[in-house]
Amino acid sequence: MKPSSIQATHSGSTPESTRFATLRICISAVSLFALIQAGFILVRQQHFDVGAAIGLSKAGVIAAVPTVLGLTLLVLLTRRWHRASKQGDPHRATRSMLFGSVAAVSAWMIADAWVSGPLIPTALEIWIEIAAALAIGIAVAWRPPSALFCRRASYLAAVAILVLLLPMPDTGFVRGSEGEAKSPTGGGRVALDRAPDVVLISVDTFRADRVGAYGSSLTLTPEIDRFAAEGLVFERAVAASPWTVPSVASMLTGLPTIRHGAGRPLHSGLTFVRSALVSDAVTVAQRFSAAGYRTRAVVANGFLSPALGIARGFDEYDTPFLRATGSIFLRDIPLARLVFALYPVEKWADYRAQGVTDRALEILEEDAPEPLFLWVHYIDLHTPFQADPAEFDLGAWSAEIHQDQPKVREDGTVVGDFFAGTSNVRGGMLWLDPTDRQRIAGYYDRAVAYVDGELGRLFGVMRDSGRDRPLVAAVTSDHGEEFWDHGHFEHGHDYYREVTRIPLILWSPGRVPSGRVGAQPVGLVDVAPTLLDLAGLEAARAETPDEGESLVALWENESAAGESNRIRFSEGNLYGMPSVLLEEGTWRFILRAHGAGELYHAFDDPLELENRVAEEPELVARYRKLIEPRLAFLLQSSGNEAPALDAETRKALQSLGYIQ
Ligand SMILES: [Zn+2]
Repeated sequence: MKPSSIQATHSGSTPESTRFATLRICISAVSLFALIQAGFILVRQQHFDVGAAIGLSKAGVIAAVPTVLGLTLLVLLTRRWHRASKQGDPHRATRSMLFGSVAAVSAWMIADAWVSGPLIPTALEIWIEIAAALAIGIAVAWRPPSALFCRRASYLAAVAILVLLLPMPDTGFVRGSEGEAKSPTGGGRVALDRAPDVVLISVDTFRADRVGAYGSSLTLTPEIDRFAAEGLVFERAVAASPWTVPSVASMLTGLPTIRHGAGRPLHSGLTFVRSALVSDAVTVAQRFSAAGYRTRAVVANGFLSPALGIARGFDEYDTPFLRATGSIFLRDIPLARLVFALYPVEKWADYRAQGVTDRALEILEEDAPEPLFLWVHYIDLHTPFQADPAEFDLGAWSAEIHQDQPKVREDGTVVGDFFAGTSNVRGGMLWLDPTDRQRIAGYYDRAVAYVDGELGRLFGVMRDSGRDRPLVAAVTSDHGEEFWDHGHFEHGHDYYREVTRIPLILWSPGRVPSGRVGAQPVGLVDVAPTLLDLAGLEAARAETPDEGESLVALWENESAAGESNRIRFSEGNLYGMPSVLLEEGTWRFILRAHGAGELYHAFDDPLELENRVAEEPELVARYRKLIEPRLAFLLQSSGNEAPALDAETRKALQSLGYIQ
């Protein structure tokens, strides 16, 4: 490049000499980047209602400012070496370097979102993205915007951004403003000075049969067992779905999967791109919030992003796991490596049980006049599997997402200190021999013991008799885990006990008796109404028989408990064609999309090895009638709102009372 050619391309701009030229260049670059960032966040979140769009735009603007300030500082310090500076035009040097770098960062962000969507790109993709971004940055630096452009843009953009930022309330955590939805009905305010604090603890991927209180002889869970002995153990708690999103959405709304809308497939090729809660679903946090509670969440599962609508009603929704995995994007950039070395990710994004517990304890010990609703969600039992569950290993998560084939070790096994090849096993590309399978199950058990110890710290503070308020707590899970019990590995495909039977323990000295509920199936859908009831708030009345209802009657009114014919469903699998599990009385019945049914006796056949379909034709016919419309619904549903059902399915669902 000859010096004369640079000047020729900018014949319209004369060297600037005003004192404010540098400031104007900076303001126009900041504004441009802020607007790009806001647009980028909007598109990624797929949010198009005005309120959420303004909120997200603000987040975009705020996130952009430090980036451009950092770039500006760098440019001001280094511009003297730019060719234009040496030729006596420092402002052109500033424009060239600043707009070039802003263009490169923006291009990188956009390319990254384009290539990887919600997943993390491969190493090759990262380098292609960075190369493309650098090319665009250099092109813009070559022909930076004119001084006139910067002057006009800076005035315009400064006004626009000031307007956008003026009523600026939140920073830090994502506020639960996600599509405000309808305001909670019923409930009303309680006498807040007597209201209990309420703590909902869910441990992702927790098989009930690993808990001593549920019959395990492995002694992995002394803390949960002691807590269970003080509280009420529901022996037949059914997950609402065999995977996280629909199950957690049911736990938080009391609605079955076919009603709350969360977790439906949106794109046939993208397994993990899933729908959010329907707009009129009300969360338990919204109900507590409407009653005057402080509402907080510490959620260590990347799937449970506020974009799904499940943060609705939470004043603060802390997602350490999303922060931690977000940093995986940056780890390959030299400067970010330096920053992470000085300020390690585990200091500001500890998604492990110990970090989650630390955060939950901080919240529990806050001094505030209002009662607290706190939801704590642990991720440690989930794949990838680690020999040391307490190790903070972002590399394991990166490998989990990339799913490279693991190396074969000297002894012929493939499972090393961590194992992240779950998708390969699921897809049939990797076969694990019995030694590997045992090793993985062993890692899972270690993680159970690790989480149990951390829960012990939480329980200790919850038991503290010096607390101002009584406390109501529930410990549960979103689903279990499969270790080839019925041929599958992990979760999301099937409905056998290993994946749909979850722990559910209620605890509140003086409000909840200690003991066990063994005969009645209960569902994750029943958790929210029960917690509201225990706090003295009125839950929304169940509109259909598959919605959750308060379980308090089970111990307060024994005749009601005896008469109740509660049916609970699990549905909305992540992989494969839909199936539905129904649990009622002494039976568990699974119906597959292709019509095959499996019936198991809940007490006589705990391992679910003996299909009794042929022995109970009448029962099976009745269960089929209950499930078939749900299967038809699941086969037709895709997207955010309720699907357009064919007339027959709609009529069938209405006749069974599942929809109004
Ligand atoms: Zn889960």
